[in-house]
Amino acid sequence: TYAWFSQRAWVEIDLGALTDNIKQLVKFLTPQTQLMAVVKADAYGHGSVTVAKTVLEAGASWLGVATVPEGIQLREEGIKAPILILGATHTAEQIQAIAQWKLEPTLCSPKQALIFSDTLEALGDNSFIPVHIKLDTGMSRLGTDWQKAGDFVQLVQGLPHLNIASIYSHLATADSPDPAIMQEQQRRFTEAIAQIQARGIKIPSLHLANSAATLADPKLHYDMVRVGLAMYGLYPATHLENKIKLQPVLQLKARITHVKTIAKGTGVSYGHHFIAPKEMRIAVVGIGYADGVPRNLSNQMQVLLRNQPVPQIGAITMDQLMIDVTSIPDLQEGEIVTLLGQQGKEQISANDWANQLNTIAWEILCGFKHRLPRVAV
Ligand code: PLP
Repeated sequence: TYAWFSQRAWVEIDLGALTDNIKQLVKFLTPQTQLMAVVKADAYGHGSVTVAKTVLEAGASWLGVATVPEGIQLREEGIKAPILILGATHTAEQIQAIAQWKLEPTLCSPKQALIFSDTLEALGDNSFIPVHIKLDTGMSRLGTDWQKAGDFVQLVQGLPHLNIASIYSHLATADSPDPAIMQEQQRRFTEAIAQIQARGIKIPSLHLANSAATLADPKLHYDMVRVGLAMYGLYPATHLENKIKLQPVLQLKARITHVKTIAKGTGVSYGHHFIAPKEMRIAVVGIGYADGVPRNLSNQMQVLLRNQPVPQIGAITMDQLMIDVTSIPDLQEGEIVTLLGQQGKEQISANDWANQLNTIAWEILCGFKHRLPRVAV
């Protein structure tokens, strides 16, 4: 049968590994610290609904998304857990949707807080919505400057329709082996908290740590940690690999669609950037840069086939790439190639690709396109 052609390429999501990673993380935290699973960008390419349901079962109690539609998508699937929108929201449509879908916004400035309060007033809704105050302690991205934390929090506290649910900040260098900047950010966070408390304002919850900070130092855990990369089974830095045991959740797989012999001197793929040095057996794999395999890996990557690494040759094309299978004379069309993941003792991780490309694993994972089905295993 040709049933195997129904999937030329796909992303495999190991829900058991995801569950184990969450359990390892929960075990690493004290019982007072909650775990927010960051599922923005379609759960870093893993598929947000399936991931969200799995991690909530496994011990996470909050979800973090970047945008309002990402939050609505989870609510539409019946997910009841609290959902924090980590990005900025401003418009009446966004604020209305936040109230309607019971999402929880991040407030970054006095101006934004006033827009929220006024818009909720105009909607004629008398209820209060939980809001999360973002302080900039050194990331220079979203948030009010930490030195103005007291004024900002006092303003929000006095506004109708807004209930402060937490105060948080984000770290810029938690994955660095040098903790100096991270420690300075924590010092600023601590000072901002003191400023707020000096005004007699009670703070319900504090959070600061991403994956790297969670693994690096329990003093950064506070009331909640916001974990993305680590729950997907990747370490944010090599010096953090000894902290807990994580397993990659995602594998990228594709089928061999065609096998042929080429003569010595034959050029392969666009531009003929590979010329066969001898007679070779080559195979076409049904995946390309339109699926998220970075074209810059052309002629530089390996894939796993029959538990061994084999070299990719020639330019990676939109939907297909070629590999050198001279070492496997009996290779059959339809066999499965692992581009990321494990076969036997061999493993290729998103961090390997990231290192080769001078980027980060986060970008690799978010790069897999919707054309690839996400298959839960
Ligand atoms: N918190 C915030 C505000 C974020 O933007 C992110 C992701 O970029 C995270 C937490 C999770 O980061 P990581 O994937 O490094 O755990």
